[in-house]
Amino acid sequence: MIILVVNAGSSSLKYQLIDMSDESVIAKGNCDRIGIDGHINHKTADGRVLDEDCPFPTHTEAFMKLVECLTSGDAKVIDSMDAISAVGHRIVQGADVFDKSVLVTDEVIDKIDELRELAPVHNHAHALALRACKSVIPANVPQVVVFDTAFHQTMPPKAYMFGLPYDDYEKLHVRKYGFHGTSHRFVSKALAEAMGKDVKDLKIVSCHLGNGSSITAVDGGKSVDTSMGFTPLDGVVMGTRTGSVDPSAVTFVADKHGFTPSQMSEYMNKKSGFLGVSGVGSDNRDIQEAANNGNDKAQLVSDMLAYEIQKYIGAYAAAMNGLDAVLFTGGIGENSWEVREQVCQNMDFFGIKIDEALNRTIRGKLTKISTPDSKVEVWIVPTNEELLIARDTLELISK
Ligand code: ADP
Repeated sequence: MIILVVNAGSSSLKYQLIDMSDESVIAKGNCDRIGIDGHINHKTADGRVLDEDCPFPTHTEAFMKLVECLTSGDAKVIDSMDAISAVGHRIVQGADVFDKSVLVTDEVIDKIDELRELAPVHNHAHALALRACKSVIPANVPQVVVFDTAFHQTMPPKAYMFGLPYDDYEKLHVRKYGFHGTSHRFVSKALAEAMGKDVKDLKIVSCHLGNGSSITAVDGGKSVDTSMGFTPLDGVVMGTRTGSVDPSAVTFVADKHGFTPSQMSEYMNKKSGFLGVSGVGSDNRDIQEAANNGNDKAQLVSDMLAYEIQKYIGAYAAAMNGLDAVLFTGGIGENSWEVREQVCQNMDFFGIKIDEALNRTIRGKLTKISTPDSKVEVWIVPTNEELLIARDTLELISK
């Protein structure tokens, strides 16, 4: 059984074709610059590559090109779209409307589009892509949507409410939603399997660290709290995003710079974080390199990240009244031994001790990096959101 996984943004459409018999990737690619000009990069598992400019006025043309690449030409992998059993889509914001993955209907697409106010960059693009996909992919191929927010719908009100007047929650739906839920769900389950335990018996702090980062308290397999909030801006300092800031500093800075709310939002989402503090760049590799070369501001932002993660680990251990394991995932969590080492230093109060020599040698591999006498296990767990979307899709169409 073959499943197409789609991750659509406002100007891009990433995809993977997954063979569910062994969960291998048959082909993957990215259509980008949609609405600007258009470009596709398509790669097959056996190393064939197609990389060309082609006009993508809308998501529909991008889907048509994707179908063409999969079914014809030098990088063809299937004879026709009839070979595909279903399409699974990643959706950023499901709010409190969707607490699990669902089959796509016109009503579901409309609802996703209605939620666009809560995720302006993403949800409308998802709705456009879903409609485009329906117009291009044969009608008998079912589509499924998997939400970044769904895993966090188990948070209790005391964790997701803000101290704003209650009307803002009831009328404007302002609350913590949390993101990266697909990743946190995938890695917490994978960790339990690796530990040989039932996820129901574990208290885990899951650290997804990438361009965007979020930390989640997973108690018994359920998200009970998470660092991202109403939007993915909250929590720890990120590539270009501030993370948590005193709201009064936000209004003060906006006032001093003469920013409108949307300019201030852009400032905090695109110009801040690693980039804004260090002036070096948004990529963790550049930050670590600059810090190693004596750049104080790069060192500072690296210290800020590690310190903030340590505080979340402490807070979530308290929230769950216990801690069995900490896991690192995402581009930084899987690859940066420096960040993992910094986070795990001086955490012996919590019973966290890592094998520093081992930690320095591991990248992107499921590995336990804590010492045998560490009370809390520490693991690197590679994430695979596309695979989880494919698994959810398979499960739903099999019902
Ligand atoms: P996104 O949030 O866009 O999915 P990723 O999870 O791919 O991002 O993470 C990107 C981050 O991972 C970047 O900051 C990058 O520097 C970092 N990263 C990737 N590879 C390495 C590496 N080998 N060492 C340190 N950091 C890395």
